[in-house]
Amino acid sequence: MNQVKNSNKLKIYPIFLPNLGCKTRCVYCNQSIMTGENVPKFHVLEQLLKDKNDIDEIAFYGGTFTGLPKDVMKRLLSIRPDIPKRISTRPDSIDEEIVQILKSFNVKTVELGVESLDDEVLNHSKRNYTKKDVLNSLRLVREYFEVVAHLMVGLPYDTREKDLYTVKGLLEENVKFFRIHPTIVFKETELEKLYKNGEYEPLSLEDAVTIISEMTMMIESFGGTVTRLGYHVPDSQKHYIIAGPYHSSFGDLIRSYIIKLLVKKYNIHQVQYNKRYSSWIFAHGNSEMKVERKEIEVDDILLDGVSYKVLMQKFVNDFLLPNVL
Ligand code: SF4
Repeated sequence: MNQVKNSNKLKIYPIFLPNLGCKTRCVYCNQSIMTGENVPKFHVLEQLLKDKNDIDEIAFYGGTFTGLPKDVMKRLLSIRPDIPKRISTRPDSIDEEIVQILKSFNVKTVELGVESLDDEVLNHSKRNYTKKDVLNSLRLVREYFEVVAHLMVGLPYDTREKDLYTVKGLLEENVKFFRIHPTIVFKETELEKLYKNGEYEPLSLEDAVTIISEMTMMIESFGGTVTRLGYHVPDSQKHYIIAGPYHSSFGDLIRSYIIKLLVKKYNIHQVQYNKRYSSWIFAHGNSEMKVERKEIEVDDILLDGVSYKVLMQKFVNDFLLPNVL
């Protein structure tokens, strides 16, 4: 049923609990439709994990883990107590008692569905919390756990400026790890109705790529890491996508766009790259760039001899920060 996922070199065993623990339903969400997963039986999980020794973490995804009844939460966390756990949850479902439970059951990472720091966006997306709640939850968890903030762009009432402001606000709160998703309209969600009534317009793929590239550059310029870009939608679920900027290689689209942007803005003539970055240099229209290309051993991309990371910082300082200060 579940496949071990390699994320940041960690072997993570994901367990999906679609919409379990969620008190309300966010406008864009229907986890069963999006993931194709069903709630697993406890004894099946126990059996599957009993003798697994090739995994670094067990992750509980797809719902509000800390919104589950406490006895259910503890029972799930007690599976293979020797293996560290990762849980995903929402900012308004965390308090000091929950932090103590997570600490005592070997939870190492909290994936926090922040989505936005803009109260209007949060309200219209039916997230039912505010920026203040996000900041409070971060203060509770960041001392004890690695925090991965999940962000979405293109939610109702969202703008590019609000997205950049959200990133800046979280970096100021010392958040280091991010996942960024474009909003997709799935069947059997409230967003589907809003879209069909003409009350919601999804981002184009082009706009989603531009905005998320800017967010990525801002995060990585300030020492943060973007661990995932875009949704993984299993092939079996793709026919449930109604509209929105879905692309199966969204992460590569972002990385290719960033290189293209830097080459253009800084009038770059030569690109030297380690072959592990080949897709960023050649794919998604980048083979058209009029530059000299050369493979190198060093693990980097050099644009006229300068690391692309340095040029990303320059781009952020020159063009992005003046818009969000
Ligand atoms: S909290 Fe997460 S899983 Fe629950 S409805 Fe909202 S987006 Fe879906």
